[in-house]
Amino acid sequence: MANSGLILSKYSIGTGDRFSHQAKAQLQACVKALESGIVVVPVWNKSNREHTIIGSEPSSARQAADAAVKALGWKQPYFCDADHITLQTVGRFIDSCDFFTLDVADFIGQPAQEADVEIFVNRHPELLGSIKLEGTDEIFEITPQSLREAAQKFLGAVKKAGEVYRKIESVKGAGNFIPEVSMDETDRAQSPVELLIILAAIADEGIPVQTIAPKFSGRFNKGVDYVGDVAQFEREFALDVAAIAYAVKTFGLPANLKLSVHSGSDKFSIYPAIHDTIKRFDAGVHLKTAGTTWLEELIGLAEAGGDGLALAKEIYAEAFAHCDELCAPYATVIDIDPAKLPAPSDVRNWTSEQYTSALRHVPGAAAYNSSLRQLLHVGFKVAAKMGRRYLDLLEANEPVIARNVTENLYDRHIVPVFLGRKA
Ligand SMILES: [Zn+2]
Repeated sequence: MANSGLILSKYSIGTGDRFSHQAKAQLQACVKALESGIVVVPVWNKSNREHTIIGSEPSSARQAADAAVKALGWKQPYFCDADHITLQTVGRFIDSCDFFTLDVADFIGQPAQEADVEIFVNRHPELLGSIKLEGTDEIFEITPQSLREAAQKFLGAVKKAGEVYRKIESVKGAGNFIPEVSMDETDRAQSPVELLIILAAIADEGIPVQTIAPKFSGRFNKGVDYVGDVAQFEREFALDVAAIAYAVKTFGLPANLKLSVHSGSDKFSIYPAIHDTIKRFDAGVHLKTAGTTWLEELIGLAEAGGDGLALAKEIYAEAFAHCDELCAPYATVIDIDPAKLPAPSDVRNWTSEQYTSALRHVPGAAAYNSSLRQLLHVGFKVAAKMGRRYLDLLEANEPVIARNVTENLYDRHIVPVFLGRKA
């Protein structure tokens, strides 16, 4: 299953641009990376849920990306990602996107056809016994029983990914888009052994997958740092990378296949582990950020003062008033402590500095408030409802917002993950 068409570069960063106003500022971060000697390719991702909440169409994300690339004279590849799509939602993305995140998490654990399990198990005797992965000290032991169980658990999901893949392929043609398979939005993390078995199934299904997003252990909440055992994450991440290298060789998957880390923004405590591991294995990684650019818009508005600061406060007050409703769709990926949320009547008196230092995620900063940040993160619906009023202020304050967008993406994400320097 060699790649003959579009190829995703070794290092890539997924950025969301909810209101389609920051593509240039985001791309500027990749330009800075290039100036530092490293190619980090931008992938603009937007899910169906986001489009629905904002009231936008995938074509608008494509136009914004194309315009930014033209304006900055970007010569490297770039992509538009139909993020977390399914058979039901993929349709309207097919024309505008060239990267598809096939989300099959909902099908994990749904019993596979017994005949399919039988075929899979018989087809993969090489998975049985001990597998020593290059570059690690660990040995995977797979018994007929554990292979069968993993097949029962994941085969149905992989078959679903195949259906979505073939639907896209029938329109766009093989090689004209990058397929990613995501399994992150589920309760239980997949072990490195399970990842290996999943990759065998993906190869059988004929999906030339270039990135795979497993669920890692620990919590990957939106917009805030990793919560979990960093040493354990590092160990599992290395085994996942080694399992991918093994799968590429053994099952003939595309040579550039790499891990995709979803909700990967703000996970400052695991960036050194990610960087060290990809260097050690000479592997690539796709870091998919979680739409946090919208928070940089708020920070920029607050920093601008005047009407911008007033609007940022109003958005907080509205989000506070509708906290339960805004948080509900994101319940499994946020941890807000209501006691830590400042009263809107207090926020009304805040200076620019108070607002920005509470919201801006600088690791270790005393005034940083992760509960406020998470509430505002899910509060983009409030700004979406404001329509032109919000967008006009974005446009009026473009330079200060753009500076914050670029700095967040470059200094706090690209630098530690891809360049391996402290943020
Ligand atoms: Zn995801």
